[in-house]
Amino acid sequence: MSAGREPIVTVRNLRLWYYTRRGVYKALNGVDLEVMRGEVLGVAGESGCGKSTLGLTIMGLLPRNAAIVDGEVLIDGFDVVKPLREYYKKAKKFRPDKNEDALKRLHKEMTRIRGVKVTMVFQEPMTALNPVMPVGYQIAEVLLQHNMSLLAKRRLARARATKDDVKEALNFLRANDYAGLIEYVKAKGLEGLEDQMLAIWRRRDLHDLVKEIRILNMCCDPVNPIIERGLKYTARTNKLPAAPVIRQLVRRELVKEGYRKAAEFLGLLGMPEPEKVVRMYPHELSGGMRQRVVIATAMINNPELVILDEPTSALDVTVQAGILELLNELKQQTNAAFIFISHDLSVLYQVSDRVAIMYAGKVVEVGPRDAVFREPKHPYTQMLMEAVPTLEPHELKGIKGEVPDLRNPPKGCMFHPRCPYAMPICREREPPMVNLGNGHKVACWLYAGGERK
Ligand code: ATP
Ligand code: SF4
Ligand code: MG
Repeated sequence: MSAGREPIVTVRNLRLWYYTRRGVYKALNGVDLEVMRGEVLGVAGESGCGKSTLGLTIMGLLPRNAAIVDGEVLIDGFDVVKPLREYYKKAKKFRPDKNEDALKRLHKEMTRIRGVKVTMVFQEPMTALNPVMPVGYQIAEVLLQHNMSLLAKRRLARARATKDDVKEALNFLRANDYAGLIEYVKAKGLEGLEDQMLAIWRRRDLHDLVKEIRILNMCCDPVNPIIERGLKYTARTNKLPAAPVIRQLVRRELVKEGYRKAAEFLGLLGMPEPEKVVRMYPHELSGGMRQRVVIATAMINNPELVILDEPTSALDVTVQAGILELLNELKQQTNAAFIFISHDLSVLYQVSDRVAIMYAGKVVEVGPRDAVFREPKHPYTQMLMEAVPTLEPHELKGIKGEVPDLRNPPKGCMFHPRCPYAMPICREREPPMVNLGNGHKVACWLYAGGERK
């Protein structure tokens, strides 16, 4: 799907400081960024430049020592960092415990968005998964938290569908008429059935005949009348019934349905034998399989934005290639936007539509992928590109010097101590963001009228 023009997230002049015993780390120093609906924005930069901090801020998952000194993060117009910024503005002295109160307010407001609209995939899948729960339950739990009504509708649809209904619906699939299928199940009051059918129909690892048999078997799956009443309530209200016994029975039915949906979804993500995998524990899976599970938990609610923080760094290259292929497919199938954080430029080249390069808590260059990769303008981006190893022998040039100490970042352009083109103005004044056209922007005095002396 092509990238939309409307932004899903807008970050404006974001300044974030971490208060620690060793001093105040100025981790983000005026980040400006937009992510459009349906696009993949790659974010690159050396270790410690604030990539993860940016991702965590958008998710509202900051620690108590993180102060929002200025700026905003707007998700569909909702300002994520407002409580923290307001606290910082009125506090005479920053106190983590008071900041925590603001964080609690933020968490309350974020429950509507986090896990539904915006989700995040972390680098190490083992830390994102609960070691003592089957992975299917962990995927199902996301639905139980946010989309119980879908599970109830699916279960009811199977109980109500007759053999003829399913045969008719299968004809729509054979004709690739998905809109017709959706209309048909709606007219028959079988919402939720299309979700199950499409998942089986799109599984690549199943033979066509197996798919058809599975779909035809998907009817007249009876459900106890008491549970049925409870499921109807949940389907309508997205809540569990109040009576404890019925509540328990309905929940059990929803968990089973959640496992079913989890297996279907993992099948779509290319997991072999997903029905078995959902019953397994994280330690029984390989790294690549675990990362697929984590991606499934992030994607199952059809989020509008997914933040992936180094999702392939802990994987070996072949598994990494599989995950990147999967992300490219997801990009085609959904209209979600992705922020893909990685220090590996070759990975970013494969998945991104646009790329943002960060240095010392600032975006120094942003633009369409090919423009940034083929014609990097910022000296830092140019040096990063030269430091990428390739198969053809070429001289690898590291970037001289070190990432600045963020407790006391250099004045002017923060890259000036390492920049071979540094000019007097670079040491004095922060360079403005210059628009080079076609969405390619760079923060460097070389393009803003600075003169070399
Ligand atoms: P990497 O590529 O190593 O993951 P990164 O670009 O994701 O790096 P961040 O993790 O965002 O960088 O860190 C940015 C800066 O903030 C670093 O200097 C880091 O030491 C500091 N930092 C991050 N988290 C905290 C924290 N909870 N408390 C104090 N300082 C922190
Ligand atoms: Fe180098 Fe100056 Fe550009 Fe900074 S602003 S990257 S120091 S030329
Ligand atoms: Mg990081």
